[in-house]
Amino acid sequence: MYKDIIRFIQTLYGTREMIPLHAPRFMGNEKKYLDECIDSTFVSSVGKFVDRFEKMVTEYTGSQKAVVCVNGTNALHLALLLAGVERDDEVITQSLTFIATCNAISYIGAYPIFIDVDKDTMGLSPSAIEAWLNAFAFVKNHACYNKKTGRRIKACVPMHTFGHPVHLDELINVCEKYHLELVEDAAESIGSFYKGKHTGTFGKVGVLSFNGNKTITTGGGGMLLFNNEKLGAHAKHLTTQAKIPHRWEFVHDEIGYNYRMPNINAALGCAQMEYIDTILANKRETAMKYKEFFQMVEDIDFFDEPENCRSNFWLNAILLKNKETRNDFLQCSNDNHVMTRPIWSLMNRLPMFAKCQTDDLTNTIWFEERVVNLPSSARL
Ligand SMILES: *Cc1c(COP(=O)(O)O)cnc(C)c1O
Repeated sequence: MYKDIIRFIQTLYGTREMIPLHAPRFMGNEKKYLDECIDSTFVSSVGKFVDRFEKMVTEYTGSQKAVVCVNGTNALHLALLLAGVERDDEVITQSLTFIATCNAISYIGAYPIFIDVDKDTMGLSPSAIEAWLNAFAFVKNHACYNKKTGRRIKACVPMHTFGHPVHLDELINVCEKYHLELVEDAAESIGSFYKGKHTGTFGKVGVLSFNGNKTITTGGGGMLLFNNEKLGAHAKHLTTQAKIPHRWEFVHDEIGYNYRMPNINAALGCAQMEYIDTILANKRETAMKYKEFFQMVEDIDFFDEPENCRSNFWLNAILLKNKETRNDFLQCSNDNHVMTRPIWSLMNRLPMFAKCQTDDLTNTIWFEERVVNLPSSARL
């Protein structure tokens, strides 16, 4: 019964062979820039492409400063450190996310609290946070504390699921009311805008990822976005072993990290940024084709971009009627070489996070049972 859907996707991608979920495209200056890196011998932690890539992303996102990292996960780790999260703090986030969000919280020795998502964004729900904090937290001396554990709740990390922005205005209000730092996990949302402003630029820090399966890629890579140049400069310092610039002395003034992206990866990033608009326009066209197609399909809904938002449609998502039909569809499509995937296993079901506090997660569980991602690579 899913034959028509499979045929539609095969026609869309013009093949009956394996169709991946999200494959990278290299059709610009990638090879040229890689050659330049090799010829110059600047393949590692110094080189012009690092600075150029940061500048391109700063301008594209409208942030004050962008700092490249080795990957999105360590960018998240640094983002939380820079937001002031410390050992034994708690951090509000969604259970419906990729593991990296929670791993980064754990690297600091902090604990996630899992709050529900909104039905129209699939991302962290400001009203659910407010309801939970109202019942289980209190504010004292401009800090928020968990009534049950006594721990400080320091930050809030929304994730723009599959590139769909969360309700940022409302989220900012809740964060201000409860003195929480906002750190956006925008790993999936380069090219996604909320009321005309780029995701990842609303909080204290935002994080992008350039992993191989993301909208644009550097092989592996991440980026920190700041609205504050001073904080950005501190981030740069931390990613480079906190070394004080000097022509020959090795002096370091705090615990630093080797989190800086090599020039060879940044070279790929520069080439990809040169035609990000083409990639995004093509991905939007694909999304609109899916949307139109699924309007004719009974019992399956296409997940569209939230109101007042422009999503990058990183991964297209459909909602099936229930878990059973979801499983049938996954089986049938993968048997026919059309790669589809369910949404992630909820974080609170994993052994490392099973003891973390949650609210009722009503919408989260609803999505968990129904969401399937469809092939979404640019068709260029
Ligand atoms: C991709 C991704 C990251 C970062 O992953 P890296 O592979 O380390 O770049 C973080 N959070 C989410 C939600 C992601 O999808």
